[in-house]
Amino acid sequence: MQPTTAPIGGAFLIEDAKIEETLTAEELPAEARLMAKTVEDFLRKEVLPLAARTEAHEEGLMKSLIKKAAALGLLSTSIPEKYDGLDLPKSHNALLAEKLSLDASFSVSLGAHTSIGTLPVLYFGTPDQRQKYVPKLASGELIGAFCLSEANSGSDALAAQTKATLSPDGKHYLLNGTKMWTTNGGFADLYTIFAKVDGEHFTAFLVERNYPGVSVGKEEHKLGIKGSSTCRIILDNAEVPVENVLGEIGKGHRPALYSLNIGRFSIGVGGLGYSKEAIKISSKYAKQRVQFGKPIAEFGLMQHKFGEMALQCFVLESMVYRIGGWFDVRFGGIEIDDEGAADKYRAASEEYSIECAIMKFFGSEVLDYVVDEGLQIHGGFGYTEEFPMARAYRDARINRIFEGTNEINRLTVLDQAFRRALKGRLALPQAATKLKDTILSASPSLPELNLDPIDEIGGWVQQIRNATLYAAGQSYEALGQNLIEKQEVVAAIADMAASLFALESGWLRLQKLKIAGSSKFELALSAVQVFGADVSAKVEQWGRVVLCAISEGDARRVNMSILRRLLKIPLVDTVTLRRQIASAVLDAEAYPWL
Ligand SMILES: Cc1cc2nc3c(=O)[nH]c(=O)nc-3n(C[C@H](O)[C@H](O)[C@H](O)COP(=O)(O)OP(=O)(O)OC[C@H]3O[C@@H](n4cnc5c(N)ncnc54)[C@H](O)[C@@H]3O)c2cc1C
Repeated sequence: MQPTTAPIGGAFLIEDAKIEETLTAEELPAEARLMAKTVEDFLRKEVLPLAARTEAHEEGLMKSLIKKAAALGLLSTSIPEKYDGLDLPKSHNALLAEKLSLDASFSVSLGAHTSIGTLPVLYFGTPDQRQKYVPKLASGELIGAFCLSEANSGSDALAAQTKATLSPDGKHYLLNGTKMWTTNGGFADLYTIFAKVDGEHFTAFLVERNYPGVSVGKEEHKLGIKGSSTCRIILDNAEVPVENVLGEIGKGHRPALYSLNIGRFSIGVGGLGYSKEAIKISSKYAKQRVQFGKPIAEFGLMQHKFGEMALQCFVLESMVYRIGGWFDVRFGGIEIDDEGAADKYRAASEEYSIECAIMKFFGSEVLDYVVDEGLQIHGGFGYTEEFPMARAYRDARINRIFEGTNEINRLTVLDQAFRRALKGRLALPQAATKLKDTILSASPSLPELNLDPIDEIGGWVQQIRNATLYAAGQSYEALGQNLIEKQEVVAAIADMAASLFALESGWLRLQKLKIAGSSKFELALSAVQVFGADVSAKVEQWGRVVLCAISEGDARRVNMSILRRLLKIPLVDTVTLRRQIASAVLDAEAYPWL
């Protein structure tokens, strides 16, 4: 059922989740599935057959496909009805985005338009700006792009050097500088460009392509997503009317950063969508390809891959719709033209900055894993452009780079958690102290035997939460604000947190499948058991890295013994369970859950 309440961002780090606040993929309504089927048909019939031509940058082709998508309503799914949009819940949108990912170039182009190309003006624009641009962005009459990065400011995006100076008559800002890597740059009509007023005040501007002084560089030659347009935007005294300042002067970080959160979520969604496709393509191939007198699908090492690919997807899918359901709650009921609507949108997209950062790196790394193994299953044929895995492999790689690199997103997890704690929005220090008090006072308890499997996995979730909290708390105690300088430690804690969020999401979904009496429950149980066993071992490893880096001598020995008490690695026959999942994949020739 669609949740009506949602937790505060980062709550999973310190407290048990509420099942009634969890949306699962199985609970999405029939109308969302119907629309997703339309999107899939559109992709398979109208977009994928043209992939070679879009990759060759045939003049006008990608733009015409985006306009065709507009006719299906795909440009307006996040736009309120008042501005001619469909205003779909984020969770329904995620289902559509999964299907869009079947063609990565198209999906990146469309996604850049509908998210970072449209949301800044929608959420931060004045009513006049919205009225002028949003309906045209929704209909595809205008294509949007977002220009934040520069040659010398990528990860450090707010260090942009592009300058804006007020013209002597006070009617225009004159923009000077070059923006790098603009997706849709070659054919967009409206650019959201970030520049510093008088070299100081970081500000967003709505810049039309035909304004004097705006020009577009040549297409970059890329490793993947070759069908998408990526260009520099050159601003040479570009004349931007003063009424096209977006938001407040000096407050450009708001549209810059808050649109990114939704973008990070979307990368996880796209990773899920294409991973399912790669499973489908590879399982069909493995059943047909015969070596040593039998289909390669029958070999244990191939089955290991199918089992792992599918269970990683199951967990990722559980995360996607859990966060999607929370966004539905947070965005629901905001009236676009109300006083303070921009602040409400900002608050809604910012709330889950920790979870969105996790989605970004976890989802893109699942995709990389799946396409890599998909290619491997195809052997030498996978390495040729005649089979789809070569392109999928190249296309997947960008996801670890844009919308904040995976390194930056790992750092974001703890940075955001600490910021929230300092503002009193997340009781992280209190939870860490309480855990430590419990450890010091209680004698070690052994895990109960013969538990119900769902309760047992719930115990693993709790153990990982405790280990993560302990590692984070001890690190902060040892290093204070200097912790941020030990990035390897911060990243290891982020991986522990991501493992916690992932396992907990799979476990919550498992419970819902059981309650619904789903025939897929047993298979899901196998997936979550394998994931839980493997991830517990990894969490122990990351915990050791963290605790060895922040303590030495007796303190280190005590830390290690506490880690061992907190985290018992589950003993699971992962070989047999993975083979069960592989068998379901190969029977269905597809991702076996939905
Ligand atoms: C195909 C494509 C499309 C893009 N589309 C857009 C777009 O539409 N609009 C837009 O504005 N931008 C876009 N970008 C830019 C993209 O967002 C940046 O490439 C990305 O943010 C990384 O910046 P950078 O390339 O300057 O790398 P750098 O920031 O130089 O990073 C290089 C390496 O250093 C690491 N690093 C950097 N800082 C730190 C740190 N503090 N701690 C640890 N490691 C660090 C990074 O993780 C990375 O591994 C696009 C890029 C590509 C390739």
